[in-house]
Amino acid sequence: MTHIALLPGDGIGPEIMAPAVQLLEHFVPGVSTEEHLFGGASIDAHGTALTDEVLAGCQQADAVLLAAVGGPKWDTTNPDDPRPEQGLLGLRKALGLFANLRPVRPLPALYDASPLKRERIEGTDLLVVRELTGGIYFGEKTRTDTDASDLCHYTTAEVDRIARVAFEAAKLRRNKVSSVDKANVMETSRQWRQVVHAVHAADFAGVELEDVLVDNAAMQLVSRPSDFDVIVTENLFGDILSDEAAMITGSIGMLPSASLGNPDGPGLFEPVHGSAPDIAGTGAANPLAMFLSLAMLLRHGLSLEAEAGALETAVDAALDGGLRTKDLGGSAGTAEATAAVLAHL
Ligand code: ATP
Ligand code: MG
Repeated sequence: MTHIALLPGDGIGPEIMAPAVQLLEHFVPGVSTEEHLFGGASIDAHGTALTDEVLAGCQQADAVLLAAVGGPKWDTTNPDDPRPEQGLLGLRKALGLFANLRPVRPLPALYDASPLKRERIEGTDLLVVRELTGGIYFGEKTRTDTDASDLCHYTTAEVDRIARVAFEAAKLRRNKVSSVDKANVMETSRQWRQVVHAVHAADFAGVELEDVLVDNAAMQLVSRPSDFDVIVTENLFGDILSDEAAMITGSIGMLPSASLGNPDGPGLFEPVHGSAPDIAGTGAANPLAMFLSLAMLLRHGLSLEAEAGALETAVDAALDGGLRTKDLGGSAGTAEATAAVLAHL
């Protein structure tokens, strides 16, 4: 039986989790779910953002659905105090989530929210696959009065496994991968390029592959974003490019994400936005990023591609039908947004 661990978290988290579970039960009849305290809610109850019990519950699940954590209640300047975000870092690490996936799909109904002109973004539907646990963020760091250094390091195995995630994702999409590096300057990038091509030749020769230098990729993301399908890149480049790509949509309240680990362990699926403490409890939270995160869970966590597509289509249709939550300039609340999506299933 399919089992999903639910982490509602803090702020608007529980408010957007409840309707997402309703949709999950619609698409996966008989699904088993277990809700766990996480983040600030767990700090209040247990003094730590992630307990061993909750971690074990997540490890045993087929996938983990997370809403949002944090809020002013747990803001602290004392490094010894527990912080909600520690739960997230601890969970990512324990689940070995090395691949971060951020789809960017500006919806025609929301084109006007984008800082880019409609002609530029029309047809854009891309996926950034970012390596999350290696590279310069995790390399050795040194500092003296006069010098500082950060070491960028990758094993070929780390590049190999992220390349596979990208090629697999491309096969479910438009069959194209743009591998982003700086191979004209960096040794880790030359290794990256070589390994990506080796994986491609061995197992994914049917997928179109192009190499793009990172400076050029940054430019093309705003000049012709619709030419991209899957972008795969290392940690630092991915951090920068995924935020740049996200802005194409113009609305943080609409963006889902997935973090994937080893094929036998659960992935983590969550909206990009935070816990929005300023609107918590008002019923105004936009649940659509959460719903689109659930679609990623169906697709990447449970291999239910048709169901994932149906949920995304229903979200599009609701927006086409005029649904606008407050963050999108309208007046609909969480309940109305949920009803509008359900009406299109
Ligand atoms: P974090 O550090 O967790 O990212 P944050 O305060 O930086 O938190 P958010 O919690 O995402 O960022 O909130 C940023 C702004 O966007 C807030 O004004 C919030 O109300 C709004 N917002 C975020 N998510 C939603 C949502 N799902 N629906 C409506 N408004 C939202
Ligand atoms: Mg933030």
